[in-house]
Amino acid sequence: MAPQGTAHNQAAREKVEAFDTTLRDGMQVEGVSATVEDKLRIAEQLDYLGVDYIEGGWPGANPKDVEFFARAARELNLRTSTLVAFGSTRRPKGKVDDDATLRNLIEAGTSAVCIVAKSWDYHVEHALQTTLDEGVAMVGDSVGFLAGEGKRVLVDLEHFFDGFKNNPEFALRVIEAAVMRGATHLVLCDTNGGSLPHEIAEAVARVKAHVGNDAVLGIHCHDDTGCAVANSMAAVMAGVRHVQGTLNGLGERTGNANLTTIIPNLQLKMGFDCLPEGNMERLTAVSNHVAEVLNRPLNPQAPYVGASAFAHKAGLHVSAIARAKDAYEHVAPEVVGNGTRFVVSEMAGRATIQMKADELGLDMDGAAVNQVIDDLKRLEHEGYHFEAADASLELLMRRAAGWVQNDFKVESMRVITDETPDGRFTTEATVKVWVGDERHVHVAEGNGPVNAIDAALRAALVPHYPALERIHLTDYKVRILDGGSATGAVTRVLIDATNGERSWTTIGVSANIIEASWKALEESLVYGLLHVPV
Ligand SMILES: [Zn+2]
Repeated sequence: MAPQGTAHNQAAREKVEAFDTTLRDGMQVEGVSATVEDKLRIAEQLDYLGVDYIEGGWPGANPKDVEFFARAARELNLRTSTLVAFGSTRRPKGKVDDDATLRNLIEAGTSAVCIVAKSWDYHVEHALQTTLDEGVAMVGDSVGFLAGEGKRVLVDLEHFFDGFKNNPEFALRVIEAAVMRGATHLVLCDTNGGSLPHEIAEAVARVKAHVGNDAVLGIHCHDDTGCAVANSMAAVMAGVRHVQGTLNGLGERTGNANLTTIIPNLQLKMGFDCLPEGNMERLTAVSNHVAEVLNRPLNPQAPYVGASAFAHKAGLHVSAIARAKDAYEHVAPEVVGNGTRFVVSEMAGRATIQMKADELGLDMDGAAVNQVIDDLKRLEHEGYHFEAADASLELLMRRAAGWVQNDFKVESMRVITDETPDGRFTTEATVKVWVGDERHVHVAEGNGPVNAIDAALRAALVPHYPALERIHLTDYKVRILDGGSATGAVTRVLIDATNGERSWTTIGVSANIIEASWKALEESLVYGLLHVPV
């Protein structure tokens, strides 16, 4: 029974376990490739967030996962999470004690293992090409063997919902065999992601009636119908108490169920406990951190954690929002570690600018506010677009309030691109910078002009500001604003940068693409120095 309306009743809160599979399913995203080091860092983040289980990978499937488990045992000091090794049941007609997959699971050295089992008769007969009886025995034997070795055994029932629709009797036989031989968890998987919430709810309710409390029921959804989060919630409503998914919904095809959304839904809206007390406010930082490690920029519109999740575009309602934020926000953004943001453009009036100043903690008098409004109108007319560049907006407002950047002064910058006789292109930048009364001249090469000027500027600044080493550029977008004038058009450059915990965007506009890039780049570092402790 879902404890509706018990959100305020601490004593009645029931636990739903969060099982993260970013390190296995999440690695299936096209273009994502994580090193062992990356995976260790992500595991630390997951533990810091406080999920119950971290699936580390499939030991034996590739050398990287073997190394991951070996290093995890030595190097990770998990406080909250239990590390899980993933594998499969034994081979058809094989023996458990000489099965390589099961051996690898034991050798991974984790206290818990998760094995995938076939619960769709069609797969047993056609993919495994064996009998249904043997299909059931493979699951029972494997669970029994692993449990006998002292492991906590979770079973992922692959293609469960299709199998259950097709042959419920066989699917339930597989479940029974797993429970009888000691499985602690039965995880119902919508492996091809084709199910809808009402179908999930109905099947889960029937399985729940059959299994009772003999094992914890779990859910594992893929997002092929855009319903992975809804399906997971429906399963919880119908009785599962263990949800599998990935951070930021990473996963093959359209992705896995997004734990970054499901966890706050369950905890903030449905009255369940998922994370340890006080950990929910780490959600946004962890989500950003993992996006950064995997080099997969976070969707700004991601629920709860996205940069736009609590952004309000200034309009008629702007002062109403300031007076009563909770009337416009479905949860307090601070609860998940995010924040309210007022989006400012040339349309902004005095009230909006004043609110933005309050958000930034800036003391601005009427003259300064007017200055900002004038600057915005002028610059947006030139092609700037401050809605998309929060960091540049903040710098503009600080300057209007009298702030002067004193960290460094650029004397000059030059960049040269050459084509060598063998047809290669080389780029070299020279930057002359003053830090205090010291003058630095630095030359750097790059794979293009922006890369080269970034390298030269950093070479000059890093000895003074080592924190800059933690800041790097994550995206560089160029847009031609007036396509009609062809190569004479105005160029708008947006640069995203991060220090691994937060990201910011700066903007530059010019008829000269190098100048536009340089402006955005310089502001990016200025902003970084302002906010990252040196
Ligand atoms: Zn999956």
